[in-house]
Amino acid sequence: MTVWSSTIRGVLFDMDGVVVAQCLDFVAIKQEIFGSTEGFILERIRGLSGKERSRAEAILERHETEAANRCQPLDGVLPLLRRLDHHGLRLGLVTRNSRKSVNLIQARLGLPFLTIVTREDAPPKPAPDPILLACHRLGLRTDEALFVGDFEFDMLAGRRAGVRTVLLSNPVQPTSPNADHLIASLAEIPPLLGLPGLDKKA
Ligand SMILES: [Mg+2]
Repeated sequence: MTVWSSTIRGVLFDMDGVVVAQCLDFVAIKQEIFGSTEGFILERIRGLSGKERSRAEAILERHETEAANRCQPLDGVLPLLRRLDHHGLRLGLVTRNSRKSVNLIQARLGLPFLTIVTREDAPPKPAPDPILLACHRLGLRTDEALFVGDFEFDMLAGRRAGVRTVLLSNPVQPTSPNADHLIASLAEIPPLLGLPGLDKKA
């Protein structure tokens, strides 16, 4: 098994599908904004201007706020974060969501992240910028950071930034050529870092 304990000093997480269960219905949002469901929301909104863009951003924000008020943490993620924090690992969150929605989630769930990078802070994943910014804010070299995500944009952003990439495998994204490691459950993260496994009751 790969153990990165001697080199990894910080762990970055994607939010939707990794820290909280995916609550955003991307298909419904695209249907409401564009009247069609292809492509990616932020990239399509970038192609709009003026009133159309304002309308699109307002719709997205309404969906994100509503999701932030009801999304639930993934099984075991809160004890995992506390455990990593206890072992001195610096924790960051890197998401394509808005600052407002992430603040709502953090306030509700009490997430122990030292830094949160949202789409207001840097060009969104799959650009490497938000990963690099999180590393900078946490005082980490990229080779000291691990990024855990559940989608190809996460793996691409991490690979481009030069951090280690871990894919939380799922039916939509079972594998990735840009993942250094595949996991089926968040419980696999501590052993990956050379830490003991989580107490199942925690
Ligand atoms: Mg995700």
